This record gives sequence, C-alpha cells and structure tokens, in this order.
Amino acid sequence: MAKKDLNIVKNLLFWSYANLAMAHTAVDRKQEKYVPFNYMIRAKLFKGLMDGSMNIRTIFDDEKIKLLSGNKCSYCGATDDLALDHIFPQKYGGKDAGDNLIYACRSCNSSKGKKDLMEWMEYKDSFPPLMILRRYLKLVVTYCIEKKLMESQVKDLVNNNLPFKIEFIPVTYPKPHNLTLVV
Ligand SMILES: [Zn+2]
Repeated sequence: MAKKDLNIVKNLLFWSYANLAMAHTAVDRKQEKYVPFNYMIRAKLFKGLMDGSMNIRTIFDDEKIKLLSGNKCSYCGATDDLALDHIFPQKYGGKDAGDNLIYACRSCNSSKGKKDLMEWMEYKDSFPPLMILRRYLKLVVTYCIEKKLMESQVKDLVNNNLPFKIEFIPVTYPKPHNLTLVV
C-alpha cells in the first residue's frame, strides 16, 4: 500500500497528480461532486505512480492540446494581445522551450509576473484550468527527477530558488463544478 506521507516530495507531487486525474474524470462527466468512482481512479493512480507501475504521461498530449486550442490566453481565454508565458519563470531557470511555454494575454502575463503559477492563483483566489495545472505538475515532476529531489523532504525545497514553489502545490482540489479543463 502506497504511503501518503505528504512531507516527502515524491508523495506530495504524485498525490497532487492523482487528485488532478480524479478531478479530470469528474469534470469530463459533468459531476457536481466527487463519487466513489473518482476516488478509485485517484487511489489506483497514486499507488501506480508510487510503485513505478504507472507513469505521468508525456508532455506530448499537452502539446497537442495547446495546438488544438488555438491562439488564446491559456488563463482567461482572451484572443487579443497575446504573448508567450513561461510557466517556470526564466528568472528561476525556466527554459525557453515548448513544454514551458503557453499563450497568455498581456494582462495575465503582467499580473503573473515572476510568481509561481499556483502562488499567482492563490493571490487571485482562483484555480487554473486543469490542463494547465497538469502541464505544470509534469514540469515539476520532471525537474525533481532530473535533480534527484523526489525523495527529499518538502520543507527542504521551500525558499530554495527553484523554478516552482512547492508549498503552493494543491493537495486538495475544488469541487468539479468549480473546475475547467481548458479556458
Ligand atoms: Zn489572459
């Protein structure tokens, strides 16, 4: 049985990702609230991620969504005055590469500034479209695997000049009717 010790980076990230998958199924089915089927999805994915029998899917299908969703702000849906937003801010080593770039309008772009995605959302009292959060979590997991941080304590990653702020990563998700997949 996978242990849910959210003080460990790997557990926290996979728990958040498993919750995201749970939320995704509930939004897809237009549910008002979570039901046992959703919790089963979450438990299965969390266990699989923890024991290595499952993987977070490659960034590829997120790239496909980005292309299909066309030229609009990934945060608010505006179609004017678009720029590219670095999900991991460049200031903290975020790369100038496709998996780190999404369209954002100037207004969202300047409001986000150098803030972490989830930090910015909290500041706005909002929650991102799930497909943006999924992309973000994949970037975080990939980064932590590369830097061998998965077994670290979460508290050791706080205030560490990383391209993300681990203390803002959601471990509980809003009810499905308050969520969207894409704008
Ligand atoms: Zn916008």
